[in-house]
Amino acid sequence: MMEIKRLNDRIGVCPQITPDDVGAIAREGYRSILCNRPDGEEPLQPDAAQIAKRAQEVGLGFAHVPAVSGALTEDNARAMRDALARLPSPVLAYCRSGSRSAKLAEMAHAYEPVEKPTRCFDIVIVGGGSAGIATAASILKRNRDVSIAIVEPNDKHYYQPGWTMVGAGVFDKAFTQRPEAQLIPRRATWIKASATAFVPEANQVILCDGSHVEYRVLIACPGLKLDWDAIPGLKESLGRNGVTSNYCYDLAPYTNRLVKDFQGGRALFTQPVMPIKCAGAPQKAMYLSCYRWERRGVLKGIDVQFHTAGAVLFGVAAYVPALMDYVARYGIHLNLGSKLVAIDSAAKSPPSSRRTGKRRGARMCTTT
Ligand SMILES: Cc1cc2nc3c(=O)[nH]c(=O)nc-3n(C[C@H](O)[C@H](O)[C@H](O)COP(=O)(O)OP(=O)(O)OC[C@H]3O[C@@H](n4cnc5c(N)ncnc54)[C@H](O)[C@@H]3O)c2cc1C
Repeated sequence: MMEIKRLNDRIGVCPQITPDDVGAIAREGYRSILCNRPDGEEPLQPDAAQIAKRAQEVGLGFAHVPAVSGALTEDNARAMRDALARLPSPVLAYCRSGSRSAKLAEMAHAYEPVEKPTRCFDIVIVGGGSAGIATAASILKRNRDVSIAIVEPNDKHYYQPGWTMVGAGVFDKAFTQRPEAQLIPRRATWIKASATAFVPEANQVILCDGSHVEYRVLIACPGLKLDWDAIPGLKESLGRNGVTSNYCYDLAPYTNRLVKDFQGGRALFTQPVMPIKCAGAPQKAMYLSCYRWERRGVLKGIDVQFHTAGAVLFGVAAYVPALMDYVARYGIHLNLGSKLVAIDSAAKSPPSSRRTGKRRGARMCTTT
């Protein structure tokens, strides 16, 4: 095991590590690894990506903040500080000998004590997504004197409903991404960190750097986490062999390409059980695709199938008749209570499926 020099409670430094060292680092109590070496500095040096992969396997955070020995810059220091704020601590930083990491930690003020002055707000909002920002703006519009903090680690905000339009070829994906700083209401305080715990008995939110923030009212809106692993074969299939999802910024353009290039055959659209980010998104993707195929005159040669795990086409009954008009217009085969359970994308088929409801339905689903 390499020699670790502990700088303080939050950070230790050491010389170059190998993927085989990562397990021992986790057992030492480190929760993240930070690499300060550019790849390829010397022969046989393990790439940062190799260490990152192993770190992920054992549940450690990872960041790569490469810096050139003897030429450390302000930008390096800023990147180091941001990475240290973002990563779960304690963090083990490494370079060739450990001294570059120690210098960068110093430049990033990582030697400062963990204790920070307590910050108190009338309202703390965890999550600066659409809900967090809209809620803060709405409250501040009604009362400018309320103190509000938004806890959000990401620099970028994604307008996710726009991904439907990216998949439909209407928006470029970049249009749906904005700097978070532009969207946080001016009177709100942005705390650029992730929340790691709630302590309701003390009205506190614990942040990733170990500090905490206090509130009178807490609003938690960290969004939904996608669980691609729930469907065997899905993660490795996404973005290839005709498998796509509008639920991801990088994949929505692939939806557009697939729809544009499709000339005929079977198109499967699926909707899993709740909770999902948007109950309408799978159907919107389907109707917009059908519209394009209809306009191109190829719809008749396409077997469009909708498989939803739900027992009804849409949860709000008033919308169902209008949606059924489109189902009829596009000749869509509706399969209620049908759930995608696995994908074999090389064979372009689900290897198996099971019905979740009593109705009969097609048993093949590959896209959402
Ligand atoms: C393809 C698609 C189409 C959609 N279409 C529509 C539509 O037409 N109409 C509609 O109303 N809705 C639609 N939606 C749903 C809508 O996008 C979501 O309901 C909305 O984004 C939810 O906002 P949110 O703020 O709760 O979550 P998000 O926008 O996901 O934001 C959550 C935020 O919390 C942050 N966060 C996570 N964990 C932490 C933590 N520990 N500490 C601090 N911050 C954290 C994240 O970084 C993120 O910025 C669609 C969604 C998709 C994917």
